[in-house]
Amino acid sequence: MRQRKASKTPRNRTKFYLAGGLVLVLALAAALTAALRARPAKTPPNVVLIVLDTVRDDCVGAHWQGVPLTPSVDAIAAEGTRFTNAFSAAPWTVPSHATLFTGLHPHRHYADHEHFKLADSFTTLAERLQAHGYATAGVTCNPWLTHTLGFKQGFEQYFEVYADSQPNENDSPKASTQAIEWLRQRAADQRPFFLFINYLDAHLPYTPAPEALNRLPPVPDAKPRTAFSIAEAERFLGRLDQLSPADLQEVRRVYAAEILAQDAQVARVLDYLRGTGQLENTVLIITADHGEQLGEHGFTGHEFSLYEPVLDVPLIVRFPPVFPAGLQTPAPAGLIDILPTILDVAGLPPPSETLPGRSLRKLLAAPAADRPLLAEYARPATLINKYWRSNQPRVDMSAYNTSLKSLRLGGFKYIAADIGWERLFDLSTDAGEERDLSAEMPDRLAQMRAKVAELELGP
Ligand SMILES: [Zn+2]
Repeated sequence: MRQRKASKTPRNRTKFYLAGGLVLVLALAAALTAALRARPAKTPPNVVLIVLDTVRDDCVGAHWQGVPLTPSVDAIAAEGTRFTNAFSAAPWTVPSHATLFTGLHPHRHYADHEHFKLADSFTTLAERLQAHGYATAGVTCNPWLTHTLGFKQGFEQYFEVYADSQPNENDSPKASTQAIEWLRQRAADQRPFFLFINYLDAHLPYTPAPEALNRLPPVPDAKPRTAFSIAEAERFLGRLDQLSPADLQEVRRVYAAEILAQDAQVARVLDYLRGTGQLENTVLIITADHGEQLGEHGFTGHEFSLYEPVLDVPLIVRFPPVFPAGLQTPAPAGLIDILPTILDVAGLPPPSETLPGRSLRKLLAAPAADRPLLAEYARPATLINKYWRSNQPRVDMSAYNTSLKSLRLGGFKYIAADIGWERLFDLSTDAGEERDLSAEMPDRLAQMRAKVAELELGP
């Protein structure tokens, strides 16, 4: 069986390894005023949702030794609004996409470890748009997002492009070709369309194309790499192998090369939309389902943790009538906001049920710095008891056999494990989540714990 890029294995916000990172552009009052005045379009716009699976926020708009990693996404960001404090509600593919598609937290949609299916009972984003006359198509490189697990709901056409892939093949060229072909075939269709694309290049194993890797200068004093395998990532996580700081930096280089190569594939779809004049009437959202751990806290991949590197995601919205060009806003946003945003901006009725997210259009108008953002992770019992036990039998994973919850609120971050620990970090002074304040700040700890309990009663 080929080595799939599925989520089998398991940042701080400091731009610690990519020179020339983000430049925070302050909001221009005039641009915000324009956003407030703007009304949703009367004719429903097209909607394109691009998920850069496993791409960390600090790699978008970043450079490696002067080489920009995401030039095509950066161009969209310059024409749209970037939410620099955007967070996922879960650290891996299944629950995060289920949140994108339903607008619900994982404790409501329930698609997570031990229960991987998105139930038919939910009304997905695609189903909502389809009900309002949209043509709908999904293109996925991620083998978790299958029709059998419920992710095809609402898509007239759903292309699982990984199905005939070779081992370690990156499927982004096929995904872009398929997406463009679908757009081409529906050219005469008068309906607005919704197109969802999941790109997976940045997922383990990191196997970048040589042309992309060769553009990024290697790390001095590190053993040069062309790849980083799932087995290597697991051995590091399981403390069987050590990597020096230079060697870890070299791992980050192969990861960055995946993002660089993927960006060229994303560009093909964006160029097609622009070239055919469709971009202007399209709500374009580019985000990630989660990030990736590149050695922080001893982790690789994106399982077993709710630290910032796995939750902090890029989020860019391009729709010039509503979202000001070039604006970067620190307003706290979540992937729970994507579904309400799309319905709102498209001028469609809001969901009849209560959802936890807000339209990003309204969030721009009234940013709430103290907005609580919840993330959840179900206990990965089968992953540990079956997969890890057979693949890495020498590693004791019992400390990770727990569900996790986290809350971001007012500059603080709370993480709790159901095996009985809690941690509290002040992100304003400790972006790397290194100094646990739970003993020093019992009142703050209790406040965060209570807020999590409150949010878990809601949607
Ligand atoms: Zn994913």
